[in-house]
Amino acid sequence: MSAILSTSIEFLKGVGPNRADVLKLDLNIFTFEDLLNHFPFKYVDRTNFQKISSIISDQSYVQVKGVLVGIEEVGTGKAKRLTAVLRDDSGALELVWFRGAMFFKKSLILGKEYIVYGKPTLFGSKMNISHPEMILYSIAAFNELKGLQAIYNSSENMKNRGLDSKGLRKLFSVLLPQVKGKIPEILNAEMMVDMQFMSRDQAFQQIHQPQNMELANRAIARLKFDELFFAQLRILKVKQGRQINYSGFIFDKVGDYFNGFYTKYLPFELTGAQKRVVKEIRKDMGSGQHMNRLLQGDVGSGKTMVALLSILIALDNGYQAAIMAPTEILANQHFASFEEMLRPLGIEVKLLTGSVKGKERQNVFEKLQSGELKVIVGTHALIEDPVQFKNIGLVVIDEQHRFGVAQRSKLWRKNTRPPHVLVMTATPIPRTLAMTLYGDLDVSVIDELPPGRKPITTLHYKDGGRLRVFGFMRDQIALGRQVYIVYPLIEESEAMDYKDLMDGYESIQRAFEPPHYQISVLHGRMKSDAKDFEMHRFKTGVTQIMVATTVIEVGVNVPNASVMVIESAERFGLSQLHQLRGRVGRGAEQSYCVLMTADKLGPEAKLRMRTMCETNDGFKIAEVDLKLRGPGDIEGTRQSGMMDFKIADLVKDSQTMQIARQKAMEILSDDPEIKKEENKYIAAHLNLLTDPKSNWSRIS
Ligand code: ADP
Ligand code: MG
Repeated sequence: MSAILSTSIEFLKGVGPNRADVLKLDLNIFTFEDLLNHFPFKYVDRTNFQKISSIISDQSYVQVKGVLVGIEEVGTGKAKRLTAVLRDDSGALELVWFRGAMFFKKSLILGKEYIVYGKPTLFGSKMNISHPEMILYSIAAFNELKGLQAIYNSSENMKNRGLDSKGLRKLFSVLLPQVKGKIPEILNAEMMVDMQFMSRDQAFQQIHQPQNMELANRAIARLKFDELFFAQLRILKVKQGRQINYSGFIFDKVGDYFNGFYTKYLPFELTGAQKRVVKEIRKDMGSGQHMNRLLQGDVGSGKTMVALLSILIALDNGYQAAIMAPTEILANQHFASFEEMLRPLGIEVKLLTGSVKGKERQNVFEKLQSGELKVIVGTHALIEDPVQFKNIGLVVIDEQHRFGVAQRSKLWRKNTRPPHVLVMTATPIPRTLAMTLYGDLDVSVIDELPPGRKPITTLHYKDGGRLRVFGFMRDQIALGRQVYIVYPLIEESEAMDYKDLMDGYESIQRAFEPPHYQISVLHGRMKSDAKDFEMHRFKTGVTQIMVATTVIEVGVNVPNASVMVIESAERFGLSQLHQLRGRVGRGAEQSYCVLMTADKLGPEAKLRMRTMCETNDGFKIAEVDLKLRGPGDIEGTRQSGMMDFKIADLVKDSQTMQIARQKAMEILSDDPEIKKEENKYIAAHLNLLTDPKSNWSRIS
């Protein structure tokens, strides 16, 4: 790297120690390089003047030229302000200052021509601009101003030190000539031609001081690509490293367990998508490479069967297999269904959760260690230290978003070689995000629901409509269906939520009295055998209504339950609402989801309710969610450190991301160690990014 780029920022003319402190503190700008990477978020064109008569209040800014024809102080005390009138040959415009009135009164000169710039607002019938930028007109002043101007984010502190957009632009006029021709290229020549990119050196010039909008856009495209390309290259390197360092167990047999189950006991025909995914998994596990696969499939798409079939392949090859769930309820449920499905094959299944204690726990440990037990279902208790396997070959993790990367990696130490890992998630992750977050995993998608499912009808009711909702529930129960009523449970206010749940429970009890109606209740404070008892009563149809907190969110499967009522639905995020809704629609009957909310909703909550009512497609919902919350708020993304993009935007730049990933894959397959001469710039930049001593690592 050229030395000038790492020069400390206080040595830039016009900065000095005080401004340097603010830049460091507020923007993490320590060097020339850092400043170059502080990108504008928009541009304004200062080449033309608009006629005053053509200004409309929708404009985000206007630039006019006119003569100052009046200055007046109006109001008293706090309401005191300075107003001025600017006139051009088309009309007049009012200018207003609420702060610094004295200063402007002294410095503005009546009768002179000014360039005025700011955001217009319609005040009554008059158009005005408050706190406009005022420049005494001269040809020289205008020449300096002409053209596109970059607009930057700056903090209050920076503004106080003259480092607003204008101040920053001044710094760039000093910095850019100094670094011109000194910013190294980081892509290879072929890519540059292929993508028709301008040089990186040029891109930095153009992004800060664009000659025209077309060049600005090309500079932006170039720098976004750089960022995404290197992010992908790093992720793919991680994956490559794993494949080189860890060879996987080879499961090349498909034997009696798999074939026997498939031909004799498979309870239904697999969907096309399930078949495809099972093939992908078989191929992975037979290849000699270590499988690390993410299986995405919307709620109810039938991931469990895929897990079961994968487990049978492991068993056919003489290995043990484990399936891990995020909650006890879900682990119990998997245990019950696995036990039932595997019984005819004579395969023993055991459960390991926090509630399995004493002798039984010891028994499980021993049988896993001796290898007598081949299939274990459990919670994270499975990866706690005392659990030793004889030869674990496959671990399936259900509902991935509750398991962190660190927990996943613990699994690797459970055998001499890491077991194959299949991660299943029902929270669809938008493609772009998946490429970044799970870019080191291979991805399979079940994009098809089992046949015969009727789309769930989703309705939104406000508190006023509660009696009608109760009536609807009675009708459905009379038809033989069952109903969930779910209350929010948010950790910070657990006590309050508990009260909400209990108040709700009481009012439901009043509206649905025994002996006609039986109600179950389920929440996090209950002991696990009490939970099981209530779950069982509901599952077997003894109770018709299940009042619960979000403990039922994940995985619970009661096909006869066809109505999901979500209380205070506005307090849930979209992906959680979608998860909850997925608890119904599992049987042949038409199912319903009822969103109950307060009467008054903010615009965002309205959009969430509308999205839920309009679509059942988990991927569409995830896209809206990503747009609403931004990538930083989606579970698991914050810790990844992969989201700190300077210029790229995971929502808007998904196409660029895909191209970048493609290019990164091409480079790695052609030159796995990136040591060909033509790729030397790529290698050099990658080194800088991954070298913790380099200050570039801060700005990756
Ligand atoms: P999820 O992907 O949410 O984990 P499950 O595996 O729990 O979904 O499957 C949901 C329901 O669909 C279960 O009752 C399951 O038995 C059923 N199912 C799964 N695959 C099929 C299929 N190919 N045909 C019919 N029913 C299926
Ligand atoms: Mg599931």
